[in-house]
Amino acid sequence: MEWETVIGLEIHTQLATKSKIFSGASTAYGAAANTQACAVDLGLPGVLPVLNSEAVRMAVKFGLAVGAHIAPRSVFARKNYFYPDLPKGYQISQYELPVVEKGTVSIELEDGTGKIIGVTRAHLEEDAGKSLHEDFHGMTGIDLNRAGTPLLEIVSEPDMRSAVEAVAYMKKIHTLVRYLEISDGNMQEGSFRCDANVSIRPAGETKLGTRTELKNINSFRFVERAINYEVERQIDVLESGGKVVQETRLYDANKNETRPMRSKEEAMDYRYFPDPDLLPVEILPDDIDAIRTSLPELPDARRDRFLKDYGLSTYDAGVLTASREMADYFEAVVNASGEAKLVANWVTGDLSGFLNKDNREVSDSPVSADMLAGMIQRIKDNTISGKIAKEVFEAMWNGEGSADDIIEKRGLKQITDTGAIETEIDRVIAENPQQVEQFRAGKEKLLGFFVGQVMKATQGKANPAQLNELLKKKLSG
Ligand code: ADP
Ligand code: MG
Repeated sequence: MEWETVIGLEIHTQLATKSKIFSGASTAYGAAANTQACAVDLGLPGVLPVLNSEAVRMAVKFGLAVGAHIAPRSVFARKNYFYPDLPKGYQISQYELPVVEKGTVSIELEDGTGKIIGVTRAHLEEDAGKSLHEDFHGMTGIDLNRAGTPLLEIVSEPDMRSAVEAVAYMKKIHTLVRYLEISDGNMQEGSFRCDANVSIRPAGETKLGTRTELKNINSFRFVERAINYEVERQIDVLESGGKVVQETRLYDANKNETRPMRSKEEAMDYRYFPDPDLLPVEILPDDIDAIRTSLPELPDARRDRFLKDYGLSTYDAGVLTASREMADYFEAVVNASGEAKLVANWVTGDLSGFLNKDNREVSDSPVSADMLAGMIQRIKDNTISGKIAKEVFEAMWNGEGSADDIIEKRGLKQITDTGAIETEIDRVIAENPQQVEQFRAGKEKLLGFFVGQVMKATQGKANPAQLNELLKKKLSG
């Protein structure tokens, strides 16, 4: 039987407000346990939550960026459950009336095709605290610093049909929240994580199958693996005559498997009701317009502009606009050097390679946009070849100074003096009569041998185009 995979994601993104969603306590990450939890976050009796308007503004920004409807009136509800890291006994969330509804996001797949994924809703809620197991033998520690941190939960339609599509969607939302500067998107710190809902159905079937929900996955790689594992598991269950049980499962990255955590709760288990401590949130059309005006250029628009203005390939334009910092860097180099394609090659090639190798973000690249532009100038004006430039780039990366400093210090200036190149060519021809004969008899791939010899003699500094041309002339003569 052929099966179709169906996936819907619930992404939790931590909003980058300075203080919490209903209290004035700081949201900064990494403080000593329980030093950033005030009476409101602790759920002490007699205190009242006050909504942080910045969190609402950020949610609206997201909604506008995905072309969604912004609810003029949305309502906070209490989602009741007991857990040690939730001292109030309920989480404040939005339920029936979320602030953002019905948007879309486009994803691009590696084979060049694209797809539109529906965003069902995005709602504001508070995060819970953290249970700490490691340092407490036989006990659990509770850190409430995270309690009350604002989250935007972004719920997709069940529109994805493979793990690859799910990852592309997750990456796109990640790119978007960072462009909008509403979240740092830091996945190690848990600022961006997702629950993946997975089901399968016979190919051609229109009714959805029973889903399982894979909880709290905080890496793109794990999302892909967890979904693939879960799809295989469900196929095995159904093909051996069983039934998929609707449940919440936990993905164990070490074992690469999912296992049951609890049976899936239904909404009614949470006894949702409007929180009487909080007024409905009213957003006026003028406020929405003001936020709309403040939106930055979004990734899709920027990619299209890069395609048009700089004549880049779709692939390069996609890579260069995947983060706002990368796109800014690229444009800074382009503006300073007057080149586009060459810059795109260096940024997607050597620069990205070095960033990956050293696990750095472009914002803290040791080679600044100005430095790269300086090197590109030297390629352009023929001072160095593209090959020598690789050596220059590495030296810049290692802190040896600007391209000009390095070219000077290491004597890397390209030899463009025809006479000097010819002298070397003549010598190489004289020293290798056998190869010359073979070349002239038709063994043309020996050209590479001669190029190599001259390059060796000039420490790679002969201008490659000139060298090729002169060699061909001399060898055929
Ligand atoms: P909850 O998980 O809180 O019960 P929903 O029922 O709204 O919330 O669904 C949450 C997510 O599960 C959504 O992203 C939705 O697209 C997805 N989903 C719902 N049904 C299925 C299904 N049968 N297969 C895969 N995903 C599903
Ligand atoms: Mg869910």
